[in-house]
Amino acid sequence: MSCSCGLPSREECQELFYASSIKEFSDFQYAKMNRLKVDAYALQHPEIYMVSAKSFAAHLVGMCIAMEYHNDQHLMKALQKWLNGKMELEKPPILTYFGSITIADIMKAKSASEYERFVTDWAKCVWGAYAIYHQLAREWVRLVREFDGNRL
Ligand SMILES: [Zn+2]
Repeated sequence: MSCSCGLPSREECQELFYASSIKEFSDFQYAKMNRLKVDAYALQHPEIYMVSAKSFAAHLVGMCIAMEYHNDQHLMKALQKWLNGKMELEKPPILTYFGSITIADIMKAKSASEYERFVTDWAKCVWGAYAIYHQLAREWVRLVREFDGNRL
């Protein structure tokens, strides 16, 4: 069975994901790309990683913060706290096309700097595929900020 991301096999895709995680665990220069990689990977496999509205919001908003809010770490932490709370979110329909770059492409990186560039390009590509949900993502960022502000 082919994978939702476009790779010919789901098993192969899963193995590439594990391989990337092992690389990140063993090399801190790769490790800094983990968060963005996980969001990009989840967004390409929503039927596995974005089943609930909360997990959908977690990865969509995480990617939005990385792409449009300079990867603001305060906002990322606020997102986690927001997700831990109670909320009424509606999960929109999942997409069927997620861009032309997959984890197989990023695993071709031969150095940490190449890995960083590949993951960044991949993330931009996936974010582009989610264009119809950019407005929704920004709306959820607004809710995260409101939530964060109310806690002060
Ligand atoms: Zn895949």
